Amino acid sequence: MAYQPQVVDAKIVSNNPKTGLFEIVAQLKDRTVCRLIYGKDVEGATVPTHINRLLKEPCPICRKDFLCNCMTKFKEEISSQALEMAGTP
Ligand SMILES: [Zn+2]
Repeated sequence: MAYQPQVVDAKIVSNNPKTGLFEIVAQLKDRTVCRLIYGKDVEGATVPTHINRLLKEPCPICRKDFLCNCMTKFKEEISSQALEMAGTP
């Protein structure tokens, strides 16, 4: 079954108004914690540029407890849920 991330908590952890860059830490229902890094696209819209899984729990997809790139596939999905919860700075 395809992985379906569900954000249960999200908050803005850093914000740079000068560059428009900010970061959100999002906790998922399966206890995975991700850091999302946002920037602006050429038209000034907020876009998630990176997602990193914080190494608190093994990856829910590949079960590795070290760095992997699985969350990248779910960047847009996790980002939209996180933004809904945390808002934009
Ligand atoms: Zn993984």
